[in-house]
Amino acid sequence: MTTKTTATISLEDCRARDAQDPLRSLRDLFHLPDGMVYLDGNSLGVMPRSAPARVADVVAREWGTDLIQSWNKNGWFGLPKKVGDKIARLIGAAPGTVVATDSTSINLYKVLSAAMHLAASERPAARRIVSERSNFPTDLYIAEALCKERGFELVLVEPEGINAALTPEVAVLMLTHVNYRTGAMHDMAAVTQAAHAVGALMLWDLAHSAGAVPVDLTGANADYAVGCGYKYLNGGPGAPAFVWVHPRHTDRFWQPLAGWWGHATPFEFTPDYRPAPGITRYQCGTQPMISLAALECGVDSFLAAEALGGMAALRTKSLALTDLFIQLVNQRCQGHGLGLATPLAHAQRGSQVCLSKQEGAYAIVQALIARGVVGDFRAGDGVRHPDILRFGFTPLYIGFEDVWNAVEQLHQVLVSGEWQRPEFNQKHAVT
Ligand SMILES: *Cc1c(COP(=O)(O)O)cnc(C)c1O
Repeated sequence: MTTKTTATISLEDCRARDAQDPLRSLRDLFHLPDGMVYLDGNSLGVMPRSAPARVADVVAREWGTDLIQSWNKNGWFGLPKKVGDKIARLIGAAPGTVVATDSTSINLYKVLSAAMHLAASERPAARRIVSERSNFPTDLYIAEALCKERGFELVLVEPEGINAALTPEVAVLMLTHVNYRTGAMHDMAAVTQAAHAVGALMLWDLAHSAGAVPVDLTGANADYAVGCGYKYLNGGPGAPAFVWVHPRHTDRFWQPLAGWWGHATPFEFTPDYRPAPGITRYQCGTQPMISLAALECGVDSFLAAEALGGMAALRTKSLALTDLFIQLVNQRCQGHGLGLATPLAHAQRGSQVCLSKQEGAYAIVQALIARGVVGDFRAGDGVRHPDILRFGFTPLYIGFEDVWNAVEQLHQVLVSGEWQRPEFNQKHAVT
């Protein structure tokens, strides 16, 4: 990384910034394990303090006592749309256009399939799906499978090749807004406009955006979006994901997983399928109520943030945290072969910072975890992308002193060389 001639930053400076942070009180909404700096909220968000009691109530009272009546009495049946409406406020979507349901992979299957149907009926010569080679693999696998099934072609390009790939043959441009590996962020409005200019539909994956950066799906005039519940939304392990479809498209096609929860009148039990109007048809079958209740706790913490400036204020703090991390790594970790894989330009940066390293990235992350600083490792491809040490900065609960402590531990791991110890070099199943 390059040296910058900025003034030296001290621990006291970081503490002073915490003291002045208008969002500081939001940290109290979360359970943060003692002695841990958790920089992996981009993989699995921390637990909202309200979640254990809420989940216990769903189990003991709603399930234990109210049983089947809970579908009406405790609002179970409407919960996917209720939580969807709360998520809608974070991503610039109108009420009634988002549903919290299934996983990101499954929702992607639904919307990509719907987009391909729409394109096939309107622009039959457009039989290409374009995405980024460095997109999250599940997105590419789902697209590959659908392309095989429908006789479409999947074209994968590097980020700088997207514009050139946008030709009249393109049916759908499918991108992840913030890249999971590098933290690089697309200009949603500009890319959507470029896709529309050749007649293509625009599908966004917001897995690393919802709750992390301001998103305006309506303003960008996007067509479809999916996103994740267990990352920045703090919904808990395996939390339901969400799906949004622009209202101009929702009623035009069935989505392929035409289950009874997407039926117009599910309790008439008709043998034929009649899709419900609007986003309801993107529901498939019975939803996990305990998980949805936990997800609602996570999403509610963002509603608490609305009184303090909402996503705009969270974004300001997120950029301050990632800027500080980059400055401190520059200041304290020179000479160890670290590179910066995340763009310096604010407009191109999500809420994470990725450091690249030729050798030892995995072991350094393990040594940091042993010291209570939890980030993660993402393998490079040995060609274009190097191995990555990935640090997510969730402005709801990460503070400036946390950033100082993380870099202090990174400094010590590098200077001591302790990452070279064998125990830090054994790979686990989940990285
Ligand atoms: C995390 C992530 C997913 C996860 O998909 P699941 O179906 O929840 O396993 C999908 N896409 C992207 C871009 C992600 O970052």
